Amino acid sequence: MKSAFYLPLVVLLIAAFFMTPAIADPSSHPTKTTVFNDEIECAACGEKVEVTLIGSTNTMGYSDLDMRPAEMQRSTMPMWIQYCPHCGYCASSLNFLIDGAGDVIDSEEYKTQLENENYPEIANHFLCSAMIYENAEEYLNAAWHTVYAAWACDDSGNDNAAVCRMQAVELFETSMDRDEDFGTNLVDFCILTDLLRRSGEFHRAIDSATEALDSDMEDDICEAILEFQIELALDEDSECYTVGDIPNVDELFKEN
Ligand SMILES: [Zn+2]
Repeated sequence: MKSAFYLPLVVLLIAAFFMTPAIADPSSHPTKTTVFNDEIECAACGEKVEVTLIGSTNTMGYSDLDMRPAEMQRSTMPMWIQYCPHCGYCASSLNFLIDGAGDVIDSEEYKTQLENENYPEIANHFLCSAMIYENAEEYLNAAWHTVYAAWACDDSGNDNAAVCRMQAVELFETSMDRDEDFGTNLVDFCILTDLLRRSGEFHRAIDSATEALDSDMEDDICEAILEFQIELALDEDSECYTVGDIPNVDELFKEN
């Protein structure tokens, strides 16, 4: 895990398999998302940029099967990416320059993606950021930012969500080949399988889930998710489901 970006990802991973049925202690669990504005210096061009940051948030309910958190964290997504209007740099933190970012920002491919009218603006920002990470060979970060672009497309009813998901699969697989920690536990295969199924790649989704279930890796909840994914893929169902949709989910969580 190479950048500060992974703090929110850790929150996502933890949120994925736990449900918060009620707020027992309001003093320790924020009941609403709080945000604040700040002015930071863009590490790519040196200009000052006004950004909005998350002060606090919470997650109430099951995540989607691809780890997308429930509300209220779900709605904080626009604050997971920062954009410099002066130079076009897109990053989790503008005040941190990723290796080689300058060359990518100057490329035609980057400029085209930044203004691509076939995607929502926030998806373009995530995809540009993913491009910078990929150039720096930080494939896991690139993959996650591409997943976030897919979520942004989902929210706009934009069909390019499937394109983003297949790009994310490629990046996760590259990450796996490069020993970037991805693919060492069943959670990773839950994510890969959902990306494939949501993209309509049902046979590949079944293969991914089956390979994971046949492996030595063990986790009761992940195994239930993968079995559920196989059922959905056999039905050629590419809709969004949450962990709460797994059959007998409440008993599963009581046992674990
Ligand atoms: Zn800038």
